Formats: sequence, structure tokens, C-alpha cells
Amino acid sequence: MDVLLMRNICPAGKQALICFFISTIVFTTSFFSGSVLGFSSELWALTYWGPALYFCLFNFILRYCYKGFMYEVSIRSAFLGATFSLGIFLTSFDNGWRVFGLYTIILSFFHFSEFVSVALTNPRTLSVNSFILNHSVQYGAAAVASWIEWGVEYYFFPDMKSYFWLSALGVVMCITGEGLRKSAMFTAKTNFNHTVQFVKRPDHQLVTHGVYSLCRHPSYVGWFYWSIGTQVTLLNPICVIIYTLASWTFFRERVYAEELTLLTFFGPQYVEYQKQVGTGLPYIMGYIPENTGQNIKDDHWSY
Ligand code: SAH
Repeated sequence: MDVLLMRNICPAGKQALICFFISTIVFTTSFFSGSVLGFSSELWALTYWGPALYFCLFNFILRYCYKGFMYEVSIRSAFLGATFSLGIFLTSFDNGWRVFGLYTIILSFFHFSEFVSVALTNPRTLSVNSFILNHSVQYGAAAVASWIEWGVEYYFFPDMKSYFWLSALGVVMCITGEGLRKSAMFTAKTNFNHTVQFVKRPDHQLVTHGVYSLCRHPSYVGWFYWSIGTQVTLLNPICVIIYTLASWTFFRERVYAEELTLLTFFGPQYVEYQKQVGTGLPYIMGYIPENTGQNIKDDHWSY
């Protein structure tokens, strides 16, 4: 299957997979060799500072070998591989760092798999932004807020971060959400886009099969539960509430704007789809033409 994947993927996607894979092997070995050999061994410089040194070395090699887009893709994939390995290492701890490790694995894998999924399903739109590492200021601030909450609670109430069974529930939420989002990307293929399209491409088709027959916005539903799942994984009660409210508000606005464009793209076909299938997001209706008081006629949609 791996061979098949490598054959069908564009060069940037292949590069991302290779860099992530090599980085994961090197950093996981490096992190674990530190704890196996002991930080006080003669190899302390390599075992303790190893990961940082390896990352500088990696950057140096990649900078030397690749330029422009390929370098940007390589360094991000290598970085995500390194954080993924750090997550694996942290899960071997028997305290609150374990849940932080699980979170780090989930976060790194999500951003890396977004890039690879776009490379496989819609390479025409592939860019450095496909990692969605720079999603928005709010997204970055939310991530930092969750690290602060985890840090403060772990410092003052370390026992609070040892409910591993509850954290595992968060992991299940993330895996399910991630699975749903990726299924949506692989179902919609070239009709999927990280940025909402306001102009209809001639080949843009309405997708109503697969996960799109279960709900109208499977990738948003997946991302919604994934985002809450990250905070359940971290055992962050405050951020669970904040993330739920923030994601819900974000997706309500996003779905509204997106459906407005989809109605202009597909007209009665989309109205029919709306009647058959719900948005999938709790208490989010989307843009329902009837509710706006507009008189929708078939010819209204002909442009
Ligand atoms: N909201 C969808 C898709 C997100 S990607 C989901 O959650 O799975 C955003 C792009 O998908 C937008 O440009 C929009 O025009 C397009 N899109 C959304 N739903 C679609 C559908 N059912 N068929 C085809 N394109 C769709």
C-alpha cells in the first residue's frame, strides 16, 4: 500500500513523507537513547542536547539540498516529525507529561496529515499553507492558552493531570474527528479546499455521497470534535469550554458563508441537499434560504 501511495503522490508530498519519516526515526532514537544511556553518560552532549543538535544539522542539510518550496515543505515536515517524536517520548512518563505527549502526537500528526491529504487529493491547491500551521492568530492564541492552562494546573495540582482514562477518551475523540475530516477530504477530492471558494470553477461538483450523505460539513464536524478532543486529552477543563464555544462560533460563521456561496454555485440542487441532510454541527443550521424571506426561484440560481 505504501508503494501505491508513493507512486500516486506529487513530488512535494513524497518529500514531506520522507522528511517526516526520517525525522521521526532520528528524533525518537535520540530521545530514547537519552533515557536509556542516562543523561550523565559520556555521551551526555549527544543524548541531552542531541535533539536540538540534530535539528540544526537537519536544517543545515535541507537548506543545502533544497531551495524554495521544497525546502519550506522539508523543514516543516522535519519539524513536525521531531515534535511527533517528542510526543512519543513524553508518553513514556508516568505523570502529567504523558497527557502532554499524547496531545503533541495528535497536534503534529494533524498538521502533517493535512499537507499529505491535500497532496494526495487536490495537489493543484498544494502550498506551504496546506500544513495550516499559520491558520489564524486566534488558532495560535488558543494553542498557547491550552499550554498555559496545562502548565499552571500541572504545577499546582499535578494529580489533576493523571486521569489517564479520561485523557484516552480525548484521544478517541481526536482519532474519530481526524478520521471524519480526512474521509471528507478523500471523498470531496478536488472539490475540497482549505479556503472557501467564492468563484465556481467549471469542474466544481456538488458532493453528496459517502460521508457527505451523513452530514453536509463532515470535515468541519471532524475538526470541531478534534479540537475539543485535544483539550480533553490535556485534561484542561477551562479550555474544553473555551474551545467548544470558540470552535462552534467559528464554524457557525464559516458554514453560513460557505453555504451562501454553495447556493449560488448549485442553486436548487443544494437546496434539495439541505432538505435531505443536516449540517452535522450541533445547533448550526447553515444558510437556509427560506429563513431569509427571499423568494427563491430556479432561474435565480442560473448565474
Ligand atoms: N464544508 C465542507 C467542505 C470544506 S472545504 C466540509 O466540512 O466537509 C471548503 C470548500 O468545499 C468550499 O470552497 C466549498 O465550496 C466546498 N464544498 C463544501 N461542501 C461541498 C459539497 N457538498 N460539494 C462540493 N463542494 C463543497
